[in-house]
Amino acid sequence: MNYIGIDIGGTNLKAGLVDEMGNLLATKKIKVSQISDNDSLVWTLVSLIQDLCQATDVPIGQIASVGVGVPGTVEIHSGAILYTCNLPLQNVPLRKLFHRYLPMPLLIENDANCAALAEYHVGAGRESKRFITITLGTGIGGGIIHNGKIYHGANGMAGEVGHMSIEMGGEPCPCGRRGCWERYASATALKRLTSRVLAEHPDSILRTVVDENAGHVSGQSAFIAARRGDPVGQSICHTYIAYLADGIANLINLFQPDTLAIGGGVSNEEDKSLLLPLRREVERLTIPCSEDKRTKIVKVELGNQAGIIGAALLGKKKRV
Ligand SMILES: [Zn+2]
Repeated sequence: MNYIGIDIGGTNLKAGLVDEMGNLLATKKIKVSQISDNDSLVWTLVSLIQDLCQATDVPIGQIASVGVGVPGTVEIHSGAILYTCNLPLQNVPLRKLFHRYLPMPLLIENDANCAALAEYHVGAGRESKRFITITLGTGIGGGIIHNGKIYHGANGMAGEVGHMSIEMGGEPCPCGRRGCWERYASATALKRLTSRVLAEHPDSILRTVVDENAGHVSGQSAFIAARRGDPVGQSICHTYIAYLADGIANLINLFQPDTLAIGGGVSNEEDKSLLLPLRREVERLTIPCSEDKRTKIVKVELGNQAGIIGAALLGKKKRV
């Protein structure tokens, strides 16, 4: 059988057809701006599915399920999109509308959970049973897989790892709380930290690195300066990794996954700059256990396609 995954992104609605092994056989995309109401959304999904089947010569009857990954709030049991910032729609009973046109199961899931599921099936977590991904971006997204299933909590809202507090009364967060982990350890937080320290050290190598990048502070600036021997850059990396480790240690102490994978642009830094010092710091902060039982901290493997692949695999059970 084959599976179709659809990822509702900020610019494009991307769809892909995946085989039993999780291989992406074809992809299609359409601009999200073309979707204005419930009907146009459902029609877009149906036509993307037909296009993918045509492109791969897979009969539509061979599609076991269709999965949709949504950034926002979804109702997984009824298959409804409650809210997403990427579409001008609310409370869309997507599964009900979809079944007017096509009969196969339609599953809906939060996009961070889809990415985690993809890594779990065919990426960094394929040897795992208990697996967590975190994505370092504007915030920190998370997906928790427990005994082969996405952990949803009682109401479908579990896994918001970026909003666990690591500093009571700390920096305010748009969620309404203070001290949330993502205010210190997201890619955006790293840029903010870099800018703040840069202002205090106008003669640093970091300043040169930023000037070489047209004055633009990026998530890489401090790592580049650190590699050139800049103590200012090294100190930023050290602080950032300490914040990252603090939240990861919380997750490990709570869930003890066998593997925890890190994604997002920051995770592309070379291992000796990020992963190795991070592992050392996490080991220091977590409850001691023997090396063979310790959570493996690794990088994600699937990149940008994880959302589509994970959405597609919502309908598939892992064979472990
Ligand atoms: Zn928050």
